[in-house]
Amino acid sequence: MIYDISPPISPSLAVWPGDTPPSREVLLDLARGDSVTLSTLRATVHLGSHVDAPSHYGRDGRTIEAQPVERYIGPCEVMRVPVARGATVTPGLLPRPPREPRLLLSTGTYPDTERFNEDFAALSAELIDQLHTAGVRLIGVDTPSVDLFSSKELPAHGRCLAHDMAILEGLVLDAVPEGRYELIALPLKLVGFDASPVRAVLRSLR
Ligand SMILES: [Zn+2]
Repeated sequence: MIYDISPPISPSLAVWPGDTPPSREVLLDLARGDSVTLSTLRATVHLGSHVDAPSHYGRDGRTIEAQPVERYIGPCEVMRVPVARGATVTPGLLPRPPREPRLLLSTGTYPDTERFNEDFAALSAELIDQLHTAGVRLIGVDTPSVDLFSSKELPAHGRCLAHDMAILEGLVLDAVPEGRYELIALPLKLVGFDASPVRAVLRSLR
């Protein structure tokens, strides 16, 4: 069984305020008698479900093509955390210690991928530190950022940079039961870029 945990990419997909929403320019169209249909995509790379590159939040951080691909494929755990809107997930809110090197947290605080709500939950610096100690190497969230909307210091991004922990944002996890899966969420090899959209899926273990 495969769970698709990516939102649809369309002009109605919400992006961070001020960022570039997706648009499609049709260059050729079978319906107009052209020999093929051919189109151009223009959008932010922080589009829907996406992985951040360290260069997004660290001056000398690796750009997305240099991220090790093994981070984004392999054993993973999904946990639901009872966090309020606008609040921060602290270690005490985790229902159990993580058992896999990739952890996806379902907060339910960003319920509509077509409507950007600024009061989504974030992750605390202490949580990132503790997860790293527990062996987590990729953290995923169902929100547009691992830090609060208003944060300028970006403490969670900062701890991920310090630990070289990969960040996967913008997931859709409400239909996914808690448990262990195989994650597949490979970034495109976009040279010099600060992120890449991904088609993120979870495969049930059998
Ligand atoms: Zn991002």
